Amino acid sequence: MKGLLESRDSTELRRIIDQLGIAAFVIDVDNDGGFHLAAINERHEQLSGMRHAESAGRRIEELLPSESASRVCENYLRCVRQRAPIDYQESLELPVGTTYWQTSLVPYMNAAGKVFRLLGTALEISPAVYLELQTRYQDTLLSAYLEESPDGILVVDADNRIKTWNRRFLEIWSIPDGVMTAGDGAGALESVRGQLKDPDQFISRVLDLYEHLDKEERGYRVEMRDGRVCERHSRGLRDPQGTYWGRIWFYRDVTAHEQMTAQLEQYARTDMLTHTENRRAFMEALRNEFSRARRYAHPLTVLMIDLDRFKSVNDKYGHEGGDAALKAFAHTVRPLLRDTDRFARMGGEEFAVLLPETGLEEGRKLAERLRAEVAGMTVESRLEYFKVTVSIGVAELQPDEVDAEETLNRADKALYAAKHGGRNRVSVASAKTPSERDAS
Ligand code: GH3
Ligand code: MG
Ligand code: MG
Repeated sequence: MKGLLESRDSTELRRIIDQLGIAAFVIDVDNDGGFHLAAINERHEQLSGMRHAESAGRRIEELLPSESASRVCENYLRCVRQRAPIDYQESLELPVGTTYWQTSLVPYMNAAGKVFRLLGTALEISPAVYLELQTRYQDTLLSAYLEESPDGILVVDADNRIKTWNRRFLEIWSIPDGVMTAGDGAGALESVRGQLKDPDQFISRVLDLYEHLDKEERGYRVEMRDGRVCERHSRGLRDPQGTYWGRIWFYRDVTAHEQMTAQLEQYARTDMLTHTENRRAFMEALRNEFSRARRYAHPLTVLMIDLDRFKSVNDKYGHEGGDAALKAFAHTVRPLLRDTDRFARMGGEEFAVLLPETGLEEGRKLAERLRAEVAGMTVESRLEYFKVTVSIGVAELQPDEVDAEETLNRADKALYAAKHGGRNRVSVASAKTPSERDAS
């Protein structure tokens, strides 16, 4: 078939493919991606009723009804893209009526590797053979889908009896073999009860979907007793003519995914050195607590804490000594707080504590206790022992403050006052005076 590479003349092409014993055709690939029929051979003419003399050189769209043309061109395009021979079955509306073919395409490439021509050979097959091949193809495709799917899949018929399932489905659910092979849908449903955290809800939801044939489910969360979590998708199987065939269920194990997401969320909110929350998490909590405190007219107090002369800690004991001090500080403070309090590293050697349901005096007392405990602790780093102190500013949410940042700013100012007052002390923010309010 070497001549196929060179010839640009349709009569010459026809002469070449006439040597083949089966129906054959040559397709030229246009630069714009369209397809021309370059030649058909005599055997093709006999079977198809097309004439070489009338069809050679014409676009496929001119030769076939548009629906057939687009199916045919899809296969040509697939061969061009794969740059390798392909085989398929097709049905075509031709002058002789509907015909069925087992077709092969071979691509020809130019020096640049671009496919410019296809050689097609086609065996006519009977409608029965065509259907049989189509069914075999569909079956092969379906079992590949089923077996390779990462989802557990179950198909039930219109009477909710089990039709098919895949291996993954049995890995997710432990259902006795006998129940599955007997197609006992109701039995299968009962047998998974023990695996579920809320079996009643699960079962009533399944029954509801069986009752409402066209109801779809997208990502319903199923919690298992052993801690696994599955997401379920489900829809009724209705063919284009409207006949209802049953329902398909997909179960996706999302346990690892959910754990990973939770872990990442946790990391994004945590300071990795001290294992306290970070600024982002603190600001979020502060805003939430602010609106809660406002809504219920409850007190809310914040502490800003800064380690004293921390630069000289780093200078004397190195960065490692500084880090050890930060860790020891966090370790000392955490046990003195309630579970509902929030404790965060705002950056560097600066920390904040959020005290819901806590007034100024109570907050001050706690701050004083934190200060004393920190002053009493000993930090150890590389067999050196040293002391650190903290200064703390305390502020309580005021009725006229429009957001939590205002409270935080006053705590910051109080902290500044504590530093100026000599460090290792607690300073309480006064509410803004009316003149300060007017100024801001
Ligand atoms: P003051 O009492 O006024 O707060 O004095 P200070 O030295 O603590 O003040 P300043 O805020 O100027 O210095 C903070 C120092 O904390 C600067 C920086 O080197 C150190 N620092 C910040 N983050 C870290 C950290 O993650 N590890 C260590 N080891 N040092 C840190
Ligand atoms: Mg400091
Ligand atoms: Mg500082």
